[in-house]
Amino acid sequence: MVRVVLELRCVKCAVKFERTFEERRRQLNYSEGEMLQLDEKACPNHCGGDWFSIERSHPIRKFKRRF
Ligand SMILES: [Zn+2]
Repeated sequence: MVRVVLELRCVKCAVKFERTFEERRRQLNYSEGEMLQLDEKACPNHCGGDWFSIERSHPIRKFKRRF
């Protein structure tokens, strides 16, 4: 399981927020500066915009204990 925290900015109303994404396979390819399309309810301002620019991405890696 790979977790990525993305700092997103709504293209329509320019509000910034963070959102965590999970992916079982290593298919996450969210790069800073790229655009991401989510559902229309993703914006915390409920402005109806569904395009968001990725300001920053922070991958969260889980460390497994080795016995
Ligand atoms: Zn918005």
